[in-house]
This record gives sequence, structure tokens and C-alpha cells, in this order.
Amino acid sequence: MAKTAEVSFLDSVSRNFDKAAPHTGLPEGLLQQIKACNSVYQMRFPVKVGKEYEVIEAYRVQHSHHRLPTKGGIRYSQKVNQEEVMALASLMTYKCALVDVPFGGAKGGVKISPRAYTPAQLQAITRRYTTELIRKNFIGPGIDVPAPDYGTGSREMAWILDTYQTFKGGEIDAAGCVTGKPVNQNGIQGRTEATGRGVYYALKEIVSYKEDMDKLGLSTGMEGKTIAIQGLGNVGYYAGIICQEEGGSKIVSVAEYEGAIYSKDGIDIKKLLKFRKKTGSIIGFPGTKDLKQRKKVLEVKCDILIPAALENQIRMDNAHKVKAKIVAEAANGPVTAGAQEVLTKKGVMVIPDMYINAGGVTVSYFEWLKNLSHMRFGRMEKRFDQDKYSNLVSLVERMTGHTIGIKERNMLTKGADEIDLVRSGLEETMITAYGQIRETWKRKKKIEDMRTAAFVCALNKISSDYLALGIFP
Ligand code: GLU
Repeated sequence: MAKTAEVSFLDSVSRNFDKAAPHTGLPEGLLQQIKACNSVYQMRFPVKVGKEYEVIEAYRVQHSHHRLPTKGGIRYSQKVNQEEVMALASLMTYKCALVDVPFGGAKGGVKISPRAYTPAQLQAITRRYTTELIRKNFIGPGIDVPAPDYGTGSREMAWILDTYQTFKGGEIDAAGCVTGKPVNQNGIQGRTEATGRGVYYALKEIVSYKEDMDKLGLSTGMEGKTIAIQGLGNVGYYAGIICQEEGGSKIVSVAEYEGAIYSKDGIDIKKLLKFRKKTGSIIGFPGTKDLKQRKKVLEVKCDILIPAALENQIRMDNAHKVKAKIVAEAANGPVTAGAQEVLTKKGVMVIPDMYINAGGVTVSYFEWLKNLSHMRFGRMEKRFDQDKYSNLVSLVERMTGHTIGIKERNMLTKGADEIDLVRSGLEETMITAYGQIRETWKRKKKIEDMRTAAFVCALNKISSDYLALGIFP
């Protein structure tokens, strides 16, 4: 049994912070400054729904202004509350620092269940929420840049941009006021899959260390690894597909709103989603067993468990039932601080949210840069590279007297498209950040878990911004 009691999401983040703080050697005042939420904007606004007006409760929290703009998604959920948004905003600060994305952390929340509204009503809510942000100077390419989160997607981001442009006509960098936009609305290739793809790149890197895998009793590599996924939203869906198709892993269990299913032979995620679209449920998918309760997905025997839904899923009352060797926090905050202790004692490797789900904000950063440069990545160099490599191949052919096939030639001479650069930038980011976390974890013997190591890395990076200004001794 863990010695600590279960606490709220915000307190969980705070407890994790406090656990890491002593390993940083930073002055107490500076730590308090980093920990505090800088600005909390709580709003209520009316929106006409049918014949009636409804008062909508919403938030935007900017956790840290040590770098600007602040950055983070907007969540639409009936469970949204101020504390939750504060916790999520602070995680964004640590996440951005960890992967060297030069933003402070923020998060927004609108307390609605998106399923209960028509697209037109959702549009009215989104536009009004954006207007409130503009009024209080809480949005802008150099101020605060929202993005998708639970319950929102590229459609909502397009509405936000359009509203912003309506009020800020002529602002040259207006497109950078929000990320996660549709590609034809100033978005970037690869943003939708980014968080899931980042989860895959991170896992691939983590399981490549033989010494670490030996300790868990696992082999190296993603090939053949069994995976359970909670939540087939944007993050869980892409993480599953990519682990399956590029990693050769086997998805043995999946949970969604209506329940959970299991198959020891593996579940084809693409086919499962088609089945769900047709029948309205994952239950009954051929070759799978109904687990009866959706939370059972957390308890199945597998190598990697990917909670990709909401916070507080693995708690002190079910942590001891987790059979996975690795828990990859694709969602924000799925493992409570108390559950982390239980899992650590069991020898489970928990890969913290602030690292493993950082792919979304990383590609958001690329999108924002694209918006500021007003040009798609690869436009300048693609053709140039292609010609250069083609000349090189021709030269080698002439010198050796051998010619290669057209397929091989195309592969060798291909110039990078935007999607190639985005994926390569994302992979590089995930690998570099893990190298830093692992190094910290190995170097400081007293650090118990990977989350604490990630926090230490993030805090050291954030503190250097303050220290450079001479604000703290
Ligand atoms: N909502 C995502 C997250 O929690 C993405 C944030 C962003 O792209 O700004 O990391």
C-alpha cells in the first residue's frame, strides 16, 4: 500500500512537482514562481441554443509567462473546472520546456458536452469564447496560442482563426493565433496524427535500451509488443495505428465510451474504427471478447498500456491491478500521484504525460513557425536537393558503369516534403528529450521514477530563463 492518500488532479501535479524540486537545487522562491499559475481567466457568456439562452462557463489559464506566447489546447467537456484547467496549463509549461518548444504553458476549457450541441451551436459557442479571449487580450500569435484538446479538433480551430481575423483585420501574422488548423486553413501536414505519432517515436526509443528492457523482462523493439489502449480519440487512434503498422506491435485490447474489448490475436484498429462508425460501438467486433466494463482495459495482461482518454484513470484503488510492464501516459494526468507510487513499487515503468504526449505541441510549434514564415516547409530546398542527389547518382552510375532502377533512383533522390520534415523534426525532438530524461534519471540515483526525472529536466530549463534575467539569485 502506498503511504499517501488520493488527491485531486491539481494536487497530484503539485505533489509530483514537490517530489522533483529537491533534486534541482533551485532556490525556493524561484520554485514557487515556476509552480504558480500566472493568470486565470474565468468567464461566463450567453449563447442562444434553440429558443433559449444558455450561460456557458469557460476558462483560459496561462500558467507561465517565462516564454511567450503561452500555448495549450482548449478542452470541451462537461467535467471542465478551474482546477482541472490549471493542472493542464501547468503540465503544458513543463511539457514545452522538456521538448524545447519555446512557449509558456496554458490551457482552455469550456464546460459543455459537445455531443449535446449541433455543429452550428458549437460554432456559436466557439466564436463567442474566442471573442471573450480577444477582449481580454488572451489570444494572439505573440500572446497565447490555443490548439485542439479533448472534445475539439481542426474544425473548432478554423472557427477560432476566422473570428480572430474578423476582429484583427490586417494583422500579418494572424494565422499564428491558433494551431491545429485544417491544412488548407494555414495548418500543417501531420498535426492531426502528431500526438499519436510522438507516442510511437517515444516508445520506439524507450524500448531500444536493452539494459532497461532487461529490468522489465521485455525484449527490445516494438515488433510483437502487446498493447492495450484506453480511448480511440485522436491520440489513441493514431498511437494504435502507427504502433501496429510501423512498429509491428499487437493491439490486444481497446476501450471506448461504450465498453472494452480484448483479443489475444490482435485487433486491427482501422477495421475496428470502421466497424464502430457502422454499428455505433466497438462491442461485437469480430474475433474479440467483451470485457463488460470499460475500465477493465487497464487491467489486461500486456506489455504496454496506453491510457489515451482523461486524467485520474489509474488510481490507488486499481493501480495494483495493472499488469502492463510499461504505462505510457498519452492522456494528460491518467496516473494519480498515489497510483504512481504503487506502480513504481510494482516495478512498472510509467512514461510521464509531459514527455510522451508532447508530439502535439511540438508539431503545433512547427505550424506556428510556418504561419510566421508564411511559407510551407520544404518549398525552398526540395527541388534543389532533388537535382543535387540526382546529379550525384548519375555521377556514381557513370563512374561504376552500373545503372539503378527507377524506384531506387526516386528513393535516393527524393527531396523532403513538408510531411517528411514534420515527421523527422518530431522524431528528433522525442529522441533528444528522452536522452535528457534518461540521463538525468541514471545520473541522480535518488530519483525514483521517470516522471520525477522529466520534472527535473523541465525545471532546470525553465529556471535558466529566470536566472538569466537575474530575477533570482
Ligand atoms: N492539447 C495538446 C496537449 O495537451 C496540444 C497543445 C498544443 O498543441 O498547443 O499537449
